[in-house]
Formats: sequence, structure tokens, C-alpha cells
Amino acid sequence: GGLKDVFLQRDMITVGGGVRFPALARMALRSSLSGLEFAVGIPATLGGGIMMNAGAFGQDMGSLVQEVETIDHQGKQQTWSKGELCFGYRSSSLQDQNLIVLKAVLRLTPALKEDIAARMDANLASRCKIQPLDFPSAGSVFRNPPHDHAGRLIEEVGLKGHRIGDAMVSPKHANFIVNCGSAAGRDILALIKTVQKQVCGEKGIMLVPEVLIMGEEG
Ligand SMILES: Cc1cc2nc3c(=O)[nH]c(=O)nc-3n(C[C@H](O)[C@H](O)[C@H](O)COP(=O)(O)OP(=O)(O)OC[C@H]3O[C@@H](n4cnc5c(N)ncnc54)[C@H](O)[C@@H]3O)c2cc1C
Repeated sequence: GGLKDVFLQRDMITVGGGVRFPALARMALRSSLSGLEFAVGIPATLGGGIMMNAGAFGQDMGSLVQEVETIDHQGKQQTWSKGELCFGYRSSSLQDQNLIVLKAVLRLTPALKEDIAARMDANLASRCKIQPLDFPSAGSVFRNPPHDHAGRLIEEVGLKGHRIGDAMVSPKHANFIVNCGSAAGRDILALIKTVQKQVCGEKGIMLVPEVLIMGEEG
């Protein structure tokens, strides 16, 4: 199958690595299958979402995955069973292995279409209410520390609205850094460091980025 293919067999769905989460969630809804309600508002592809173990509202990809097929840069294909994948909070054992996710098999749960639709609507409404979706961002910048929320800590040290160039800690949700115009990567990195320093200084907690930093600084 291709990277954009989806193949449904009862409660098992085989999904290409390039399929986007919102489209996949809507497909599951049309088939009265529950499990992907969390994915409806996440701008991810299946491959990226598995790599990062994307999740929200108490659900994540890792709990749905039965099997993942990958290819490496020499063209070697491999199938990983769920027991081999070790999903954690925004992590999977596929990270740092330089593999490309070709497809995955997910197990969903049959449920009433109206109930699935209601959960999706509630999740989307909650995102619109608390997240700064009117500006470009990379989503949550920092992982939540155990039993706490990164956004709460950043807000408490008074950094909501703090700017470096056009990069700004969102006044709406402090764990988002938004681009107000033409922020450069170095502005965002500098803001990440400022937040880490201030939260560590005042709260004694070193926030760990959830975002992956790609490319060269400068
Ligand atoms: C407004 C907003 C809200 C968000 N909300 C959430 C949320 O609620 N929960 C959440 O978990 N995330 C959230 N995110 C983050 C984002 O959607 C995730 O990072 C997602 O898991 C990966 O997205 P992507 O597919 O575009 O991959 P990218 O961001 O392009 O890549 C992420 C990593 O995966 C790798 N990768 C991508 N595709 C493949 C593939 N086929 N095979 C192997 N590796 C691959 C990349 O190399 C990179 O290392 C949000 C982002 C935004 C902008």
C-alpha cells in the first residue's frame, strides 16, 4: 500500500505513514470506531505521531498500535510488534533509530457514532478555547513535569506574553511559543532558554523541551 492508504478490517485499521491525523480520526468516526477522538485536532501524520507517541486528553497512539512497519536508509524493511515499541510520554523506541514509518496497524473499539462525534467536538472545542490556534506554533514546547503543568509554571514566573523578536510566549497558553510575524529559529531557541532559566531559578524545575530541534543554530 501507499503512504496515504487506509485499509479497514473490522476493528483493525492499517494506515500509511503519510495519513494525517484529522482525516484518520474522521474516517474512524464514519466507521463507528473509537480510540482516535484525541487525534482530531492534532496536525500530525501517522508516521510523525507514532515516532512522538502523540497524545492528548488521556489517549495516545501507543495504546492503539498493534504493529509498525519501517524502512531504513538501506531499504531494509522491518515489522515491529507492539511489545517491541516501548511507548512512553511523547516517546517511542523508534526514536533515534533513523527509521521511516511506512505504515501501522491500529486496534480501535466499536462504539456509537454519536458518542464518538460528541467526544471529538468536545476535544476540538477545548483546543480552540485554550490554545493559540490563530498564530503559527509547534504545539506544546515543554513536556509536563511529573504531577505538574509546564504552562502553569511558565505563567507563574510571569513569562506570558514575553517576546524575543517575533517569538512570543503565548498570552493564551504559556506552554506555546507563537510566531507573531517573522520570528527566526534563533529567537524561538533564545526564548526556550529564557523560559528554562527563569522557571529553574524560581521553581527549581528544569523544563525539558517536547519539541525536537532540527538543523543548525545560527
Ligand atoms: C497547534 C498544535 C497542536 C498540537 N497538539 C498536540 C497534541 O495535543 N499532542 C501531541 O502529541 N502533539 C501535538 N502537536 C505536535 C505535533 O502534531 C506532533 O509533533 C506530531 O506528533 C508530529 O507531527 P508530524 O507528523 O508533522 O511530524 P514532524 O513534526 O514533521 O516530525 C516529528 C518527528 O517525527 C519524525 N517523522 C515524521 N514522519 C515520520 C515517518 N513517517 N517516519 C519516521 N519518522 C517520522 C520526524 O523526523 C521528527 O523527528 C501539536 C502541534 C501543533 C502545531
